[in-house]
Amino acid sequence: MHIHTPVLYNSPEPHSMLINSGGIIKHRPVSGVSCDIDVYRKDGSVETGNVWFEVDAKYKEGLCDDLCDAYVIGLLHYCLKNHYDITSDAPMSEELYYNLTEVLLPLLIKNDFRLSEIKIDCKTIADDKLRRGKYIGSSASCGVDSMFTLHSRANHPSRSLRLTHLCLNNVGSFIGSYGLGDDYLSNVSQIYRRSKDLANMVGLPIVESDSNFSKAFPQNHLFSHLYSSMFAVFMMRYHWRKYYYPSAGHISNVMTFENNSVFDPSRYEPMALAILSTSRLKLYSDGFTHSRNEKLYEISDYAPARRYLHSCLTQGTNCGRCGKCQRNLFAMDAMGILDNFKEAYDLDYYYANRKRFIVHNISKTDEFTMDSKRIFIERRSKLYFACIKISKEVDAAISSLNNKKDVEGALAILEKHKDSSDMALHTLAKYYMSSKDEAEKKKGLEYLIKGKDNEYPDSIMMYINYLSKKTDKASKKEMVKLCTDQATKGGPRSQFLLAKMLSKGNIIEKDYDAAMYWLRLSASRFRPAMTLLYEELCKSGSDLDLAEAEKIKSRMEAYDKRKSPDPE
Ligand SMILES: [Zn+2]
Repeated sequence: MHIHTPVLYNSPEPHSMLINSGGIIKHRPVSGVSCDIDVYRKDGSVETGNVWFEVDAKYKEGLCDDLCDAYVIGLLHYCLKNHYDITSDAPMSEELYYNLTEVLLPLLIKNDFRLSEIKIDCKTIADDKLRRGKYIGSSASCGVDSMFTLHSRANHPSRSLRLTHLCLNNVGSFIGSYGLGDDYLSNVSQIYRRSKDLANMVGLPIVESDSNFSKAFPQNHLFSHLYSSMFAVFMMRYHWRKYYYPSAGHISNVMTFENNSVFDPSRYEPMALAILSTSRLKLYSDGFTHSRNEKLYEISDYAPARRYLHSCLTQGTNCGRCGKCQRNLFAMDAMGILDNFKEAYDLDYYYANRKRFIVHNISKTDEFTMDSKRIFIERRSKLYFACIKISKEVDAAISSLNNKKDVEGALAILEKHKDSSDMALHTLAKYYMSSKDEAEKKKGLEYLIKGKDNEYPDSIMMYINYLSKKTDKASKKEMVKLCTDQATKGGPRSQFLLAKMLSKGNIIEKDYDAAMYWLRLSASRFRPAMTLLYEELCKSGSDLDLAEAEKIKSRMEAYDKRKSPDPE
């Protein structure tokens, strides 16, 4: 281990992080680089973390073993958030040093009042003295975005833009937000196997890497995916000449650095990747010029996508039920390209529930679903219009049930549509569960469980509430899983509940940062979350938090003036 003296600056918080030079460690059949990183805490204590990164031995020439580039990028968000200055024994490439210190860092810091200046202290090496990467890569992760990039770049007419390799890096994305999946390892092995099969099919070699990066320095993947992905790319910077990062964003979304420390970096990804690019390594945010439906349509005739497209939030194969699988299937149905994907999805299940799925999506207002609805209408789909009729009848029945007008008639209509409308089923569940009659109560619970199994958000929330009153372990576990799934899908009430569980730490492990993340997301739409966020920020009492609390306060006042209802 190196002997080193920490260099401390007059930063607001006097901590620093020292990156020691890496060295190639070789053991068959992989080659790797490892590096000690010392973290000097405010209280004077020092903690050393060892980060390793390994690839198949045949790619060892591509490993970067003499620069600190990858570590600094990988930990940039972490250091910014925690006010760590960075000192490194190993040098940084000159252009990257300029891009970081004179462009990206000032942009990130000036657009977020929570951040303050950090310094990067290391020697630099002129880029023209570095080894040259030769290859052009992208991810083999099999989602719509990466499939689109593969489709458009694998056979690009210009050789200088055509993919030469695919890659799969284990840097945190497989864990999702929390890694609560019980079948984590078997899911990961399915992901690796599918990526290899895909690479075989398109005839490109695949660079598989493994690293303990996300374990040595745990970061919430939601905030840091751009940085951890670039960690893996820069670890192989002597391999790559160009790298396409499949973008999840879209040109019609806001592109901004504003409040970057508390939001998903895909908001500013095309700009950040352009800034991080150097004369030796060009990074592209690929595909943000296309909407998801445009991408899906483009890949629907692409044999590798038809076989290997993967969208699932919950498992290594496509479940066909979760929000992400459902969104893709609905879009495919709208565009008339469902059968193109019969190898990747269980279409029997979709067709058996088709009406219900369409009726369910009619009420959704997210950008992707709105676009799919527009396509159904443009194609004059009879099935779609029939589903609109069901949806209207159910709405009318619910309204007369609420107003206690012709209750028997309303119940009969809801019963008639309960297999094609989750809302009808859920309304019946609520109605019967509040009954005093035991048999009706039992029927209500059966309907509720059916609604939950149909993945209907209101039924899931009501079932979570039902489980929260139980005391056994299995119920608690099921509750946490349901709540995390819903929060990841964007449900403000489950985000609020998850934030409360993460901050209390009684049911799941305490994680204040993650709690605040979910709370901020929820507070953008959900009034009770605004109150709690305000209280938490006031409690912390730091200048920055108090300033944010003032902003929340004015948002609450504006919200109360409008008296807009909270989302269901
Ligand atoms: Zn799924």
